Amino acid sequence: MKKINKIAFIGAGLINSSLARDLKKTDFYKISSVYSRSKKTRNILRKLKIIDEVEDTYSKAVCNADLIVIGVPVDAFSSVISKISSYLKKGAIITDVGSVKNSIIKSSSRKIPKGVHFIPGHPIAGTEHSGPAAGFEGLFKNGFCILTPNKNVNKSSLEIVTKMWNLTGMKVDIMDPDYHDIVLAITSHIPHIIAYSIVGTVSNLEKSLKTEVIKYAASGFKDFTRIAASDPVMWRDIMILNKKAILNMLSIFKKDLSILEQAIKKEDAKFLYNLFSKTRLIRKRITK
Ligand code: NAP
Repeated sequence: MKKINKIAFIGAGLINSSLARDLKKTDFYKISSVYSRSKKTRNILRKLKIIDEVEDTYSKAVCNADLIVIGVPVDAFSSVISKISSYLKKGAIITDVGSVKNSIIKSSSRKIPKGVHFIPGHPIAGTEHSGPAAGFEGLFKNGFCILTPNKNVNKSSLEIVTKMWNLTGMKVDIMDPDYHDIVLAITSHIPHIIAYSIVGTVSNLEKSLKTEVIKYAASGFKDFTRIAASDPVMWRDIMILNKKAILNMLSIFKKDLSILEQAIKKEDAKFLYNLFSKTRLIRKRITK
């Protein structure tokens, strides 16, 4: 397998900084660099000492890099590719960690220079926190990373990106980008919509009722507030860039919700019991 002399991170928030922490403990690369646009983040990164070179230009960060890992909000991905493409060396591998795949592949594939290999990726792990200080070692352990390369993918580049995620403790699955976006719409994006919506409803309640809801928030509502505290820029971009899959899944969800509403209206105890028993089994399967 080709050796990685230099790995370059573009952006080092929660995800890329966690990846940098995990890889630092391995011999996966010899030298690491990062480009971060804000001085504040660069200062934090220098203090954290998880990446060797902290740069304020794209050119210095990606110069001579064998592997570039892009960890910025999905809407910024295409402009990052435009800004780094002329500094990439032949044979370099670009991968990313973005939560949406089809739209970023469409908007950027043509901008990637010939001889540079693109292996889109999405590690299924995270928290509601952002920035390099929120990252931690072991975030990816026992999770899955989905890679969505095209059919003519360069096999050794795919092996390298697979190895990188395996080193963090992730299993790697290969998927079609459209299929990835449908799966993530239902497992991640719709749950975020529900959380944003229900917490939004509470914030619109009249003041006294809102105070009581917040005071007596039990685990149900508290769980929603954790999800609804996720980064607004990241989630704004995901909703817009995965619009098609999200709207499809949302229409199925709305139909099921109105069936549930009718069952409550009709006091259909059998329906409610059967549904809640079925969902309990899904929880058992996920947590076993
Ligand atoms: P984050 O903690 O908010 O960090 C984002 C990083 O992107 C920061 O380093 C920021 O730099 C940089 N950035 C933001 N806008 C930029 C722009 N226009 N140009 C260049 N750099 C920019 O985000 P994150 O949670 O690590 O998410 C990064 C990616 O991972 C996203 O695409 C997201 O979809 C994906 N992802 C997130 C999770 C999760 O749970 N958070 C899980 C899986 C995948 P400065 O700090 O210098 O501004």
